[in-house]
Amino acid sequence: MFLNKGFVLASRPEGAPRPENFRLVTSEVAEPAGGEVIVRHHYLSLDPYMRGRMNAAKSYAEPQKLDAIMIGGTVGEVVASQNPAFAVGDMVVGMGGWQLYARSTGQGLRKITRPHIPVQAFLGLLGMPGITAWYGINAILAPKPGEVVTVSAATGAVGSVAGQLAKMAGARVIGIAGGEAKCRFAVEVLGYDLCIDHRAPDFEARLAAALPDGVDCVFENVGGKPLALCLERLRDFSRIAICGLVASGYDGATPTPLRDLKIILDRRARIEGFVITDHRALWPQAIDELADYFEDGRLGWTETVEEGLEAAPEAFIGMLQGKNFGKQLVKLI
Ligand code: NDP
Repeated sequence: MFLNKGFVLASRPEGAPRPENFRLVTSEVAEPAGGEVIVRHHYLSLDPYMRGRMNAAKSYAEPQKLDAIMIGGTVGEVVASQNPAFAVGDMVVGMGGWQLYARSTGQGLRKITRPHIPVQAFLGLLGMPGITAWYGINAILAPKPGEVVTVSAATGAVGSVAGQLAKMAGARVIGIAGGEAKCRFAVEVLGYDLCIDHRAPDFEARLAAALPDGVDCVFENVGGKPLALCLERLRDFSRIAICGLVASGYDGATPTPLRDLKIILDRRARIEGFVITDHRALWPQAIDELADYFEDGRLGWTETVEEGLEAAPEAFIGMLQGKNFGKQLVKLI
């Protein structure tokens, strides 16, 4: 009925992933059986968690299976339906994977209910990354007006939303990002008070200068040295949300050094790791709030879009090297 193309995991990477870890496969998509729908994907989301799943070891989720279609968030259109809950033409968000078409029972598919918002927003600002930022800021950090918040990967899919939400809460927000262009964007477009380039030779001194009285809230996306430096500058009753550690562990790189846990005690700090899929009950509230902020102009997003499924492996590898600017997407139609 339709010709499908997709990428499977061909082999598990040692360190950084390489193109040969992925293999392109084709197949025919048969008519949906009773209760099933066929979705034609318009956009694929590329996210750092995928790197963790490519390892054989179980983390908070099962590893990606070899020779199976790569896991991934998608937004697309229902093109055939034997499920009364979905009509042909419905736009849906799901976990369709790195492929053009997906067959689904409808479980885990969400209909897009704000048709005037560009669909790819439901993979970024109004999708898993935006919801993650919303949860980390509201449920864990709860910054108060005047408090100092740091956000690493400050212009990325999660970080860009976290930074804007922290500003909306009245905090002084310091971004950490890779490169001058990202730092300029963080301040001029996203509204960060300052952004420090972690690639700059004097990064350490610049971060210290940006935090003369320390930090109240750390929204951590990256790990490694920047996180260690922030932890050394915690203020009393500070909060640390461990959202991601993309630079320290996903591909076996050096773990984040925490020289002395005593600082957590001395500062009466609270450190909390979280995984957003544990909080699905809150997703509708988060999406509604974020969509309202977007519609009244208080919240924006930025994206890097590659064209065509074949671009997915290189785009993914590039994102893990920080080449993306905002949400990394692949346009499939
Ligand atoms: P991003 O759009 O932020 O892309 C990843 C960014 O990480 C890169 O652009 C780069 O930004 C930075 N980065 C990558 N590798 C390194 C490195 N070696 N050193 C320093 N920085 C690096 O991705 P997301 O917004 O989708 O995700 C951000 C984080 O949030 C990730 O750790 C991800 O796993 C996590 N996450 C966690 C969730 C949860 O439920 N806990 C849910 C969703 C995401 P720069 O160039 O600015 O350094």
